[in-house]
Formats: sequence, structure tokens, C-alpha cells
Amino acid sequence: MGSIVIVGAGECGARAAFALREKGYDRRVILIGAEPHLPYERPPLSKDGLRDGAQPKYVADAERYAAAGIDVLTDAPVRAIDRGAKRVELVDGASIPYDRLLLATGARARTLPGTDSMSPRVRTLRTHVDAEVIRRELQPGRMLAIIGGGFIGLELAATARRLGTEVVLIEGLTRILSRGVPSEIAAVVDERHRQEGVDIRCDTKIDRIDADDRSARIVLAQGDSINADLIVVGIGAVPNTELAAAAGLVIDNGIAVDATLRTSDPDIFAAGDCCSYPLCHYGGSRVRLEAWRNAQDQGTLVAGNLLGANETMTSVPWFWSDQYDLTLQIAGLADGAATTVRRDLADGAFILFHLDNSGRLLAASGIGPGNAVARDIRLAEMLIAAGKRPDPQALVSPETKLKALLAA
Ligand code: FAD
Repeated sequence: MGSIVIVGAGECGARAAFALREKGYDRRVILIGAEPHLPYERPPLSKDGLRDGAQPKYVADAERYAAAGIDVLTDAPVRAIDRGAKRVELVDGASIPYDRLLLATGARARTLPGTDSMSPRVRTLRTHVDAEVIRRELQPGRMLAIIGGGFIGLELAATARRLGTEVVLIEGLTRILSRGVPSEIAAVVDERHRQEGVDIRCDTKIDRIDADDRSARIVLAQGDSINADLIVVGIGAVPNTELAAAAGLVIDNGIAVDATLRTSDPDIFAAGDCCSYPLCHYGGSRVRLEAWRNAQDQGTLVAGNLLGANETMTSVPWFWSDQYDLTLQIAGLADGAATTVRRDLADGAFILFHLDNSGRLLAASGIGPGNAVARDIRLAEMLIAAGKRPDPQALVSPETKLKALLAA
């Protein structure tokens, strides 16, 4: 009997499994995940889900998988891929055949060398289990030290402050959000965190971490130290490529796939956080995205390609982050921008448009309360996808409707 096996039961793997059914595939679909839970959404883990939910926010419940005829194996890490025999081997010894295989193995939190199993007081945040442990420490009077001023660390800081926890955030570089976020926007985020009482320390190097079961301490390079009830390391993610690498697939900052998400083996595809692919709007430069909507889009697209559709990935990258009442959204990639112009919106919200030296719109980054920037960022995304060269002055003026620029 023919079958499609999906390794990695996260956002991307789950979307792909349902999309296979939506596209009419009627043979066996097996979704295999290492975690003990059905696929769930990760974004709430650092936001509201950390405050209220004891349960993960599932992509779908068990009944929906059953109704769609998707076999989900949880707590079932895959150990190896036998490409010759077209089988995957599980850690528990089971061996499952595939006609086509999708790797949606995602990424894991990067750790600081030497701190991996140092103490229960030094943690990372990637899974529901991680969030459960961290949640227990977020109480008034406790001290949380976050290492890394990226999105996850900052979202965690905002949630912790809402729960009354004291927060110190240490960033080695001279500003927070140095990867992919313009300094003007990072400054807004920085100021807001300080207003909320987060002790942000940029340009701060760590000498070592001392921790045991009861306490933790960060010793800084300049000599002073920070005592904390919990240290959370938020220094990025590492793609889970080991399985693919051991099977001899090409790896290049993730499992390397072409624009149809096919790996160097024609029967194996990869999608989501684990893969790098050529981004068509940016001259085919290879990127690996760690973004929720990308995991969904790639999951849907790859399902068609597993069935032979041969479609290419054309979505414009899009990312959001929520901190306090602020939402930050970024569409596109600003690398290579020659000009940046600013459009001011109501309630202090603003959007920066990044254009290359031919005037083509590359990216738009916005920040503001609630949904203030959502509509314009959505239109910017469409302008980027259409390869438009809008008049920078028109982008600046809030009187100009971006929709009109799209039609121009
Ligand atoms: P994952 O979600 O990582 O899922 C991969 C799954 O594969 C995991 O369950 C893993 O255990 C499993 N797996 C790996 N190896 C094996 C194996 N050998 N055998 C079996 N299973 C295996 N994105 C945004 O755009 N906005 C946000 O605000 C945002 N917030 C986030 C907050 C947090 C705390 C985190 C962690 C991520 C956030 N993201 C956000 C990113 C987004 O959640 C990810 O891009 C998305 O989850 C990627 O989905 P994925 O399915 O590719 O990978």
C-alpha cells in the first residue's frame, strides 16, 4: 500500500497532513512526532499561553485527525531514514515504509555551551513542556534573568512582567532585536520594556553561569553578577537537520531544498523551520525562515508537490511579535535596502518601507498598538510580491492609500 510519511508533528507537518487530504490523497498518511503532544501552536508559548493555558493550543484535536484518516504517532522520535529501502526507523525499533517522505523536523532552541543539563534553573523555551516549567516560576517576587534580546526573550519578558516577575534581560550586542529589525523599531520596543520595569542590559558579556537545584547566578565579564530564580536562554534556534544529514541529504543552513521544497532526493521533501530554500523575490537567495505563517504556507504547498504538483514557493516572508499591547510586523527582507522611508499612522504607530537602489520595495516593518499596522503591512506584502517600485513620497503620506499604489 502506498503511503506518505511526515517526520515532525509540528505546525508544518500537521498542515501538510491535512492538505494532503484536502488535495484528494486517499492512501495512508502517517504523521510522526517526537513530542508527547499532538501538534500545537508555538507562538502562544511566550505570550498569552504562558499566562493562562495549562493545555497546548492544538492545531487540531484527535477527532479531526481520525476523521481525516491521518495516523498520528506521538512520543515517537525517528532515528534514521533508509533511503534505499524507503523506510524510516523509529527509536522504539519500528520501521515504516514510505513512497514519499516529508521532513518537517523544525528547530530546537540554541543553548549556551556547558549549560545544557547544568540545572533545572537554566532553561530554554521551545516546547509546551519548557513553557510549563517556566510558567511555575513567573510569580511576583521571583527574579527571571533572560539571556538574549531576540523575539522570544522579549516576549517572555513582557509576559513575565504582566505576572509581576522581576526581569533582567542581558544582550551581548549594543541593541536588542539586531537580527532583521530596524533600529528605529527596536528602540520603541526597548523603551516600552524599560517603562514596564525590565532591566535591559545591552553590550553585556557573560563570563559564566553558576547554578544548582535551588539558585542560579550569571557572572558578567565586568565582574558583577545577577542572582535569579530562573535563567532562560533565548539565543536563537538550530534547525533539526541531523536525520537528513545522516541520510546523505544536502544541508545548507537547514535541509537544502529547491523552490518546490524537494531535497537532493527526489522522493524526500522538507518544509518549515528545518529547511532553507531559494527565495524568488530576492534573486533566489537561500533563506531559512523561522516563522509561523511560513510553516503553514510551506506545509500546504509541499502537500501538493508530494503529489506531483511541482509548484514553487512564492510567498513573501511575514512575521509578527506581540509584546504588551504592541504588535510588530515585518513583511519581506530588508537586506540590501538602499533607502528607508517612514509612514506615521495613528496612535504612535509607524511603518518603515525599505527600497533597493532601483526603487523596488523589499520590505516593510511596522509597530504599533494592536492591529494598527496590520492592514498596511498586508498591502506592502502585496506590493513586494508584485515587484512594485512605489514613489517613496507616496509611501510616506498617510493620505495615499497603499491599495492605489498596488493598482498603479
Ligand atoms: P516545529 O514547530 O519546530 O515542529 C517540528 C516538530 O518536529 C517538533 O515537534 C519536533 O519535536 C519534531 N521532530 C524533530 N525531529 C524529529 C524526529 N527525528 N522524529 C520525530 N519528530 C521530530 N513565529 C511567528 O511568526 N510569530 C511569533 O510570534 C512566533 N512566536 C514563537 C514563540 C515561540 C516560543 C516559539 C518557539 C516559536 C515562535 N514562532 C513564531 C515560530 C513558529 O512557531 C515556528 O516557525 C513554527 O513552529 C515552525 O513550525 P515547524 O513545524 O516547521 O517546526
